[in-house]
Parts: sequence; structure tokens; C-alpha cells
Amino acid sequence: MNDGPRVARVRHEIKRRRLTVARVERLPPKMVRIVLGGEELRGFTSLGFDDHIKVFFPGSPAVATDGAVRPEMRDFTPRLFDAEKGELWIDFFLHEGGPAATWAAQATVGQTLQIGGPKGSAVIAQEGIDAHVLIGDETALPAISRRLEELPAASRTLVVIEIDADSDRPVLASRAALDVVCVRRDGRSGPPAHEIIDALRKLQFPPDRSFAWVAGESRAARAIRGYLRDERGLDKKWIKAAGYWQRGSAGEHDKIPDEEGVASNGEIARVPTDKGGLRSRSAAQTRQKVDGAL
Ligand SMILES: Cc1cc2nc3c(=O)[nH]c(=O)nc-3n(C[C@H](O)[C@H](O)[C@H](O)COP(=O)(O)OP(=O)(O)OC[C@H]3O[C@@H](n4cnc5c(N)ncnc54)[C@H](O)[C@@H]3O)c2cc1C
Repeated sequence: MNDGPRVARVRHEIKRRRLTVARVERLPPKMVRIVLGGEELRGFTSLGFDDHIKVFFPGSPAVATDGAVRPEMRDFTPRLFDAEKGELWIDFFLHEGGPAATWAAQATVGQTLQIGGPKGSAVIAQEGIDAHVLIGDETALPAISRRLEELPAASRTLVVIEIDADSDRPVLASRAALDVVCVRRDGRSGPPAHEIIDALRKLQFPPDRSFAWVAGESRAARAIRGYLRDERGLDKKWIKAAGYWQRGSAGEHDKIPDEEGVASNGEIARVPTDKGGLRSRSAAQTRQKVDGAL
């Protein structure tokens, strides 16, 4: 039981690609989906729902420690790759400021964007997990949406998402038995993630064989992991937590490594990569209960 979920680590050939914006769509909550296409998408591979790519932002040169001037880069989740259509989706949260959010807010069809990676995938098996608990803020939504789309109908799944306002509720689709709790960020002072932790205190999931995946602001992700481990009794091997951004700090994130947990930086096996990517979105049979802000 304490071995944690099975994780297959796959390394990919690192490649930089110049792509073209094919479509731009607005989504709740304050997000924009950039659909990229182009010849250089050929061979793109993303096998894990929380894979990440580096995105390089034009017109935002940053001076590196070696003095070289390079475009600013940030990490993003490949929300969907459809090899047949030749499309890669990236969903950007439009927070205030920063080269990534600024670029996404002005993106138009025909512009070019460079990406690199993903350099590897950690594929977390669904077997052996009795309940999937997916927790995060808007930056976690692309990975959570991917996971929801790949889970089978029998999966018991709980999503806890932090949003700014009731009108920001995301639309989530899954075949899994899905409960979604939206927690409103109230902006008041308090310990990190106290709104999410208060919500989790009211929710039922078993201490054994529940796999918790957490991503969002770094201090919040750490606080949630601490709560799950110390108060809910989840073994650290059943928690994967990552800081996707850091309040007050540009371009920062935090792997929250755990030497024995799912998030460990274990050696990645070298295997042939050209396996094709994700399939397009499946028709979703959704049982969704959206609770009010807590
Ligand atoms: C593995 C991984 C996957 C990610 N996937 C996605 C994804 O698919 N979609 C997505 O939108 N983001 C994603 N992120 C988060 C994204 O990389 C960060 O939010 C990034 O900082 C945005 O860059 P920026 O240039 O807009 O802002 P920055 O220049 O990095 O920061 C400028 C200011 O904005 C603040 N800031 C940064 N992000 C936020 C935020 N979300 N809310 C409020 N303030 C913020 C910073 O604290 C700073 O003060 C991911 C991060 C990681 C590590």
C-alpha cells in the first residue's frame, strides 16, 4: 500500500520548435487558449498529464548570468496535442503582468511562438488508485483537465480549485465520477492556502490509496501538502505537489522535491520517444457537482 502509485518516467529528445498561432479562444476563468500549429510540431510527444514545456516569449529579452540576451521563458502545460489535426493547445491564465500573461493577452492568429520540450514525462498509472484528489489554482487547470479526460468512468475523483469569483468557475469534463469544489480566493490575509485547506477539511476521501496531486502558488502548494500528510494521514508517496509560480517573484517555481515521494527527481529512463502524443479530447460523460464558494 505504501509503495505509492506506479510512475513510468520517459525521457524525450529535447527539441526547440517554432510554431504559429492558429486559433485564440477565451475561456473561464480569465484564461486564453492558444492553439499552435506548424510543420515543426511533427514528432511532438507528451505522455504525462502534468508534463511541461518551455515557452519563449518574443519581445521580452532577459539578460542571463553569462551576459547573453535571450527571450524570457516560462513553463506551461501542453493542454492537448492532437497529432492528426497538427494542433497543440496551451491555456494561459491572464494574471496581471509578466511576459507570458502579457503575450497571451495580445496573441493573434499568425504570430509565431517558440517552445522547447517536454524533456520528459512522468506517467502516473491510474491502476491502484482508489480516489484521485486534484487540487490547485488556475495554473493547475490545464493539467487537471488533461487528467480528467484520461480517467476511466470507474474513477472516483475530487477536484478542488481556487478561483477569484463565482463567475470564474471552470468547465471540466470527465467520464470519471467527479466532484468539483470551487473555492473563492478572498484576498484577506491568512496562512497560505487556508481557503483550500478549510474546504478540504469538509471533504471525504480515504487516507489509503487516495492520490493527491497539487499545483499552484509555491507556499500554497507546500501548505496543502503539509495538511494532507500531517492532518489527513496521506503517505508522502501518495502526494505529488509542485509550486507553479511564486508570489512576488517573476519566473519562479518550485518542484517541492520529496526524496521518496512521487515528486522525486528520480533517474529518468532513456527510451525511444517517437510514440505519438495525446489523443484528441474524448466525448465526456460528466457527473459534475459544483459546490458554491466556501
Ligand atoms: C510545470 C508548470 C506548468 C505550468 N503550466 C501552466 C499552464 O498551463 N497555464 C498557466 O497559466 N500557467 C502555468 N504555469 C505557471 C506559469 O509558468 C507562471 O504563472 C508564470 O510565472 C507566468 O509567467 P508570467 O511571465 O506571466 O509572470 P512572471 O513574470 O513569472 O511573474 C510576474 C508577476 O506575476 C506573478 N504571477 C505569476 N503567475 C501568477 C499567477 N498565476 N497568478 C497571480 N500572479 C502571478 C508573479 O508572482 C510576479 O509577481 C506552470 C508552471 C509550471 C512550473
